[in-house]
Amino acid sequence: MKSDHAFELAPLTLSGPRIKAGFHCHTVNSDGGLSPEDTVKRYRSKGYRCLGITDHRCVTPVSGFSDDGFLGIDSVENGGDPDIIGVDVASGVPVELSLVEKAEALAAQGGFTIAAHPTYCGVLPEDYVNCPNLMALEIYNAYCDQAYANGLATELWDMVLGQGKRLWGVAGDDAHLNPEKGYYSDAGFGWVEIWADLSRESVLSALKRGMFFSTQGPTFERTAIEGGAIRIECSPVAEVRWRTYGHTGFVDHAAPGASLTQSALPEWFRPAGFVRIELVGHDGRKAWSNPFFVRG
Ligand SMILES: [Zn+2]
Repeated sequence: MKSDHAFELAPLTLSGPRIKAGFHCHTVNSDGGLSPEDTVKRYRSKGYRCLGITDHRCVTPVSGFSDDGFLGIDSVENGGDPDIIGVDVASGVPVELSLVEKAEALAAQGGFTIAAHPTYCGVLPEDYVNCPNLMALEIYNAYCDQAYANGLATELWDMVLGQGKRLWGVAGDDAHLNPEKGYYSDAGFGWVEIWADLSRESVLSALKRGMFFSTQGPTFERTAIEGGAIRIECSPVAEVRWRTYGHTGFVDHAAPGASLTQSALPEWFRPAGFVRIELVGHDGRKAWSNPFFVRG
């Protein structure tokens, strides 16, 4: 049986060196517990090599902490409901603006726009489908997940993708590093792995083109696309979950006591415009690929 669809040569066909990066955390400049300097130190100790500090309603400059092994990118959690993150922006925009207007104003600064914790914000798919300058969804927010049980937005992501709206998926810590908060949220629970050089231009370009995946630990190592076929290699996991929107789907299970390090999209799989992949480790930690879009 030959598939009657073909995939675009998605950004995830890249392999090679990656940068561990985070684009959601807070300092004493809003409701975080540490200074910007100590926040950067904490993140660097967790292996992050790129960080955007996203204080509420204000850009905390972090580019000054950049050196040969670390890249800071000035960013903001803008405020207003539903909330939005701007990565690589000089300033926030008025919180009274609509989501569409905020995304437009942040994108006009050259920024990468991410809808912050969608489930926590109680949005509907239409809010994002009709937002032209929105580039990504925060599909996993560790703080919201650990403190409020509403940090996951992958089902909403599929509803948006299923309507033909292209959005990348970003995982973030939303770390506050603050003992005064009701729940102490730390770094290192959700991040993105970017195929880019350690420069602002390279990272921003990669983010906008979807050249990254999101993870709590597991990793995508290699992806091959040929016509309607996708094959992946990954870190050892218990499951590889192939998803689209609607009834079609497939879970590749490791044999009992074993691990999967590769998987392929079954030939019978009929994608509803896109396919995306979730890795599930033996400890339950997940990774999420960006979507692969069907051509035409
Ligand atoms: Zn936040």
